[in-house]
Amino acid sequence: MLDLKDFNNFGVINNIVFGGAGFLGSHLIDSLLQKGENVLCVDDLSSGDLDNLILAMNNKKFMFLKHDILEPIFFEKKIERIWHLACPASPKIYQNDPLRTIRINYEGTVNILNLAKRHNSKILFTSTSEIYGKTTTNPQIENMPVNLSTSSPRACYSEGKRIAETLISAFREENKLDVRVVRVFNTYGPRLNINDGRVIANFIKQSLSRKNLTIYGDGSQTRSFCYVGDLIEGLMKLMDSDYFYPINLGNDQEISIIELANLIKSKIDSKLSFEFCDLPFDDPKFRKPSLDKLTKIFDWYPKVNLSEGLDRTISYYIDKSLRRN
Ligand code: UDP
Repeated sequence: MLDLKDFNNFGVINNIVFGGAGFLGSHLIDSLLQKGENVLCVDDLSSGDLDNLILAMNNKKFMFLKHDILEPIFFEKKIERIWHLACPASPKIYQNDPLRTIRINYEGTVNILNLAKRHNSKILFTSTSEIYGKTTTNPQIENMPVNLSTSSPRACYSEGKRIAETLISAFREENKLDVRVVRVFNTYGPRLNINDGRVIANFIKQSLSRKNLTIYGDGSQTRSFCYVGDLIEGLMKLMDSDYFYPINLGNDQEISIIELANLIKSKIDSKLSFEFCDLPFDDPKFRKPSLDKLTKIFDWYPKVNLSEGLDRTISYYIDKSLRRN
């Protein structure tokens, strides 16, 4: 890892990854470094973790800067690509401080867009499937009508991401910015924070500690889970494309939460039981991306199936806990 003054030896900054210490950001950084590009990670470490950057820290083309995107940021060097992934994505975490979640998506995105404008950088923003709200049709298609409430506990995130998409569209129109907007669907894999409350983390954590698996509602709600490696490959292909409208990215293999619970416990301890809990308010009944638009733009389809991806994720958690003990 370099410090900021060494980084100035590079003629240009190839990539800045905002939110790079998080789950997706850290995998993206590893892939960019593998391509031989230099990467500056900017993160305030509020939900990210430096542990995710252990591989990157050993690379001479990597640099880390602790910074809160609510403060404007300035650089002298030319910046080629900006990746804006800076926002917690777990309902448990983003609902903890709804005002901050809104400000990150509005003020933080304005700051990052102004940076992109000053440097004429390409910018990719990770939006969310949450934008579709409680849809009544499946799969979710990019231009479908949405069913969202501005006062739902989830609104700080969904409305925050919506205003960020609108800001990006306005900046593109007014400043001819080269933008990408990716609606990321549920993603899992190594480095997903085991304590952040998301379903795969919860079920694996509960199974490994031989506790009941907590099913919210009756477990008939569905999600479609994408393995992180597939998602990062898709993000990088999108950045290299010239498609600037919002587009879905994820895996379209849909599964109910109760089936997911059965699958995870069968891999760890099939004798475990379920504990049924209240369904969180406004929890979407189903979610599955339409990938039609994406597969027309470029040749991409998720490769890792859920069972294989879960095996890799479980091994990661086991290795991590062995290293701790
Ligand atoms: N869920 C569950 N048990 C848990 C955690 C989550 O049944 O311990 C359910 C949750 O109600 C939702 C789905 O799993 O229907 C996915 O939740 P998650 O928080 O992972 O992400 P979301 O897709 O809701 O943003």
